[in-house]
Amino acid sequence: MSELKINTRCVQAGYTPGNGEPRQIPIIQSTTFKYDTSEDMGKLFDLEESGYFYTRLQNPTNDHVAAKIASLEGGAAAMLTSSGQAANFFALFNICECGSHIVSSSSIYGGTFNLISVTMAKMGITTTFVSPDCTEEELEAAFQDNTRAVFGETIANPALTVLDIEKFAKAAHKHGVPLIVDNTFPTPVNCRPIEWGADIVTHSTTKYMDGHGSAVGGAIVDGGHFDWMAHADKFPGLCTPDESYHGIVYAEKFGMEGAFITKATSQLMRDFGSIQSPQNAFLLNLGLESLHVRMPRHVENAQAVAEFLEQQPQVKHVSYSGLPSDPYYKVAQKYLPNGGCGVVSFELYGGRAAAEKFMKQLKVFAIETHVADARSCCLNPATSTHRQMNEEQLTAAGVPAGLVRVSCGIEDKNDLIGDLAQALASID
Ligand SMILES: *Cc1c(COP(=O)(O)O)cnc(C)c1O
Repeated sequence: MSELKINTRCVQAGYTPGNGEPRQIPIIQSTTFKYDTSEDMGKLFDLEESGYFYTRLQNPTNDHVAAKIASLEGGAAAMLTSSGQAANFFALFNICECGSHIVSSSSIYGGTFNLISVTMAKMGITTTFVSPDCTEEELEAAFQDNTRAVFGETIANPALTVLDIEKFAKAAHKHGVPLIVDNTFPTPVNCRPIEWGADIVTHSTTKYMDGHGSAVGGAIVDGGHFDWMAHADKFPGLCTPDESYHGIVYAEKFGMEGAFITKATSQLMRDFGSIQSPQNAFLLNLGLESLHVRMPRHVENAQAVAEFLEQQPQVKHVSYSGLPSDPYYKVAQKYLPNGGCGVVSFELYGGRAAAEKFMKQLKVFAIETHVADARSCCLNPATSTHRQMNEEQLTAAGVPAGLVRVSCGIEDKNDLIGDLAQALASID
């Protein structure tokens, strides 16, 4: 499949039916799998043979969908998780333990920021945050002897900053640690971070991959290029015997291509159990089948909306990396030549009151705590996700009270612009 174009892989990768088998990926809605002898099953438990015994560990439906996502990202192996949060936690916790340190871009999703700065800190894992725009020297200064991973988002949610992947990969590799990139917003249709040097890619498949607001989910893809054994002192979990699997050394037994995902499945999924249901994996695959058709339309609509908003007198500022006026335009031209995503943010003159009045008038854009859906939606952080903050705190957090985030769906762009125009007229 890897020699086929990405448009074909969105539709067909991950599952090839045999003669007379179902054309569509079957939903294997079974918790368990039957064996003729205990010996057969024992080999699976010992990781001596691959196969299925319990859906918390692996399920065929999920594996087909994970294989498609691995193919799209150009990775060697992948796994599905119950949510994007679980994907980022597993990706980091697979190589970090109490006493480890992470270097992370400060411009990341709020849920991920809490995960690493609060919850993982309680596990003894510390993080140094750096601006995605930092110089190479500033990035260098963030590393410590116990640094085990570097983390960032290709296009950050909601700040819409664009990560210089090569800069972060170079620094990570100089220190013998992998770069983990959350590629939720561009999807592999618009950017494949592994091609730019990232080692591990994560997704909230809840967003564009599912694309229809139907199923919460996540995915982790390993590029298969990071040489764990060359840095064995840093990654004992991959490079020394796992006593819970009869002394298997993951990096030896499964190599660079299989060690990371096998360990995350056999240890973290076994112990934390954040599985995606086969039913949700099936829905996710329906979304993936049209991802390559939907992404260009999301980008086309967002570009038109951003260009329109930039011309409006009620609008103070627009953030969208497809606008030449945007500070991330140049870096986006490099990493996102076909455009980034459908999310645009802008600030209205008139603050919270104007934003509230404006949003009340919208008819095509619905008010939702969601983005990256076929249907257009919008959110004013000051009156929703950030409503506990006062005006000063909002400005400090980079989310002024008049900030509105719109996620452009795949409707007709003229209807989207028309809806925004009539709502802007109401606040004149
Ligand atoms: C939504 C989101 C997450 C969290 O994903 P869930 O599926 O909601 O758990 C992580 N990263 C990014 C960039 C997101 O947009």
